[in-house]
Amino acid sequence: MGKAKRKLHLFKLYRKNIELLCENPRYNRDVLKDIIICPICFHTFKESDIKRSGDKNYLTIEHVPPQYLGGRTEVLTCYKCNNLFSEFDKELVYVPHRQDSTVVNWRAKLKAGEDKFGAITEFDFNTNTIKFTLSNNDDLTKFIESFKGKNQFNFEVKDKTKAVGTNLLKIAYLLAFHKFGYGLIMQPQYNFIRAQIQSPYETILDNHGVVHFNDGLDLPDGVYVVKQPKEFVSLLVRFRLTKQDGTANVYSVHLPSPAVDVVGFYKRLSTIPKGVKYVVANFDDLDYWSDRTQAYAAIHEMNHYLQ
Ligand SMILES: [Zn+2]
Repeated sequence: MGKAKRKLHLFKLYRKNIELLCENPRYNRDVLKDIIICPICFHTFKESDIKRSGDKNYLTIEHVPPQYLGGRTEVLTCYKCNNLFSEFDKELVYVPHRQDSTVVNWRAKLKAGEDKFGAITEFDFNTNTIKFTLSNNDDLTKFIESFKGKNQFNFEVKDKTKAVGTNLLKIAYLLAFHKFGYGLIMQPQYNFIRAQIQSPYETILDNHGVVHFNDGLDLPDGVYVVKQPKEFVSLLVRFRLTKQDGTANVYSVHLPSPAVDVVGFYKRLSTIPKGVKYVVANFDDLDYWSDRTQAYAAIHEMNHYLQ
């Protein structure tokens, strides 16, 4: 199927889902007529917005995770939201973003005389070392030449970890949307998650919901519900980012129930004790997008364990 056809297919699926939600008197059928909503910015788009026209924002197919990192899932987002993180996508390759990690990677610029070189800096707190890896393979000789005689070089670092974390949150949010549709995301508490995604360097949430298991919990990629501990009842989105060399990092990202205080949830998550045991459950393989009895299934499931 060509790109235009895939877009149209998704548009129709999203339309059907919005129609379903309109059976709820909370939503205004007239306002939501003929449109779909970008899951990130909540701007509305018509079927004609599938095509690019002049400078107008339009609908695009977004790969989640980014295609560059092995993502295959396709969602419709607007051009602006799709490109929110393009400059950080590549950062995901080398920033492990582990809370318990003793290794921190920052981007750096090495300056020697008039010459500048892009590099990745690795601070390893375990071995007390700093390592520079030049971004361009041919740069090492040039770099050595440029500081010869002067015997000095400077480096400037840029911490992009925060935006990288927000990028992971965006991936998890879009994967959960892909599974459960608008019924999950069109809840006021989720505005905080969207606000964080749209402002990657601001602190709207205390963290990005990323957790790492060392407890042997061996789950395939997918969306799960955390049943226990009760204070962390939430969706848990598992996905992997595959590097060009075939190795992968697996991430688990929390999305709380929209029935709870979302900001408070992420605050609590920052104090999560080490070694905490999770009990998680699968979701049934149902059509959450088109089956009217399942439109809010994810929220109902979480609320069941919250009681
Ligand atoms: Zn958008």
